[in-house]
Amino acid sequence: MQYVSTRAAASAASSSSQQFSDILLGGLAPDGGLYLPTEYPQVTGAELDKWRQLSYADLAYEILRKFATDIPEADLRALTAKTYTKEVYCNARKGEKASQITPLRVLEEREDGSRLVLQALSNGPTLAFKDMAMQLLGNLFEYTLAKHDAQLNIFGATSGDTGSAAEYAMRGKKGIRVFMLSPHKKMSAFQTAQMFSLQDPNIFNIAVEGVFDDCQDMVKAVSNDLPFKAKQKIGTVNSINWARVVAQVVYYFRGYLSATTSNDQKVSFTVPSGNFGNICAGHIARMMGLPIDKLVAATNENDVLDEFFRTGVYRVRKSAETYHTSSPSMDISKASNFERFVYDLVGRDGDRTRALFQKVETHGGFDLSGKPGSDGDEFKLVAKYGFKSGKSTHADRVNTIRDVADDYDITIDTHTADGIKVARENMEAGVTMIVLETALAAKFNETILEALGVDAERPAGFENIEALPQKFVVMPADVEKMKAYIAANTGL
Ligand SMILES: *Cc1c(COP(=O)(O)O)cnc(C)c1O
Repeated sequence: MQYVSTRAAASAASSSSQQFSDILLGGLAPDGGLYLPTEYPQVTGAELDKWRQLSYADLAYEILRKFATDIPEADLRALTAKTYTKEVYCNARKGEKASQITPLRVLEEREDGSRLVLQALSNGPTLAFKDMAMQLLGNLFEYTLAKHDAQLNIFGATSGDTGSAAEYAMRGKKGIRVFMLSPHKKMSAFQTAQMFSLQDPNIFNIAVEGVFDDCQDMVKAVSNDLPFKAKQKIGTVNSINWARVVAQVVYYFRGYLSATTSNDQKVSFTVPSGNFGNICAGHIARMMGLPIDKLVAATNENDVLDEFFRTGVYRVRKSAETYHTSSPSMDISKASNFERFVYDLVGRDGDRTRALFQKVETHGGFDLSGKPGSDGDEFKLVAKYGFKSGKSTHADRVNTIRDVADDYDITIDTHTADGIKVARENMEAGVTMIVLETALAAKFNETILEALGVDAERPAGFENIEALPQKFVVMPADVEKMKAYIAANTGL
């Protein structure tokens, strides 16, 4: 399986292609594009039938081997078996079909044959779906680095979810250190405790005296210092990482296969979306031949994606137009994985994709509505790819959390609430709608308290995490001091 950049000129595409392991540790392609396979591997009905019986780990192996063709099969099987275990993914919810890794829960069965179903993806160590991919990434990184006797120092900034998922995936891994910046005293006590309570010697929590943007600016400044970056073997694990996207493809298959008994039954997915990483994996599953009917992107007030799927206009937001909401992991100004879908939408034309995303840089967006003066008319093809969308506000979240608690006696988190709200607007007769649960309620307790008047239940093991000893350093927003700190701790 070969990979190309979404911005590769047609003439260069074959000469610049790469294997899975080549792009595993990297982010963007050198031309600024994102990597995709030259073609999507196809899944047959017979394979789907066989896969119905598989464990999550075995299913992950079957799907990954189609993409990671340069990793020996026995190694890949060992990596997926080590990653997708009860011990890693079932701490949070005891009992309840735990060994299934991503169990389904039917919320509602309607007379028209439709069903509303929740797929649990948030029972990993940080109680959010990012663990589904990040834990595999930790094992893949360790495996690949050991093969080349190499090291990697992950350097990133976080305001919550991504940073803790990365730390929990990389803790104790040989050859890897994590330097994670966060704004000092700006994260919730729960999130701070989750990250700072890690005592592993390869995890470095750096609380920066400033806001999240200061942290991000420091990451940029360090990344732009190419000699420093090379000497210190600096890398990132952001949501554009291809292996993360592929790992997420697996739970769409699991969800479909668990919700159906035969391959002619229809299933749609609603996905609480921010950077388009999660739903991009759904698009890939569909392109591989998984019988997904609709893929519904649910956004919060930061509705960049909803606007595109309603109008064909992609317009990134300025910071002043980017809202801090009660579903904060979806607070984005642009969707960093969206380019992968646009590449498919414009017929896998790298020259077009490059021009469109250069226009994002110069003009803040592009327009594929087909109206006079627009940049193309491919919006008309969106339905063919199954995409739909909807938007949810703070008031919707509060109401949805309350409804779901009243009707089904479960407490959902704010991001999942955005998903349920939009899913309900997109139910169709005879079709099962699976909503992906992207976090547990305990992580966003403030809004739960507002909606229900009681605290969200803390899963076992998290009851007292704020009281655990914390390991972190406080630093000013000073790039030179940061570089000195990194160099002193890597010894490189
Ligand atoms: C990251 C995240 C999202 C958004 O996922 P994308 O892949 O960025 O679209 C939604 N909900 C939660 C809880 C998250 O952590």
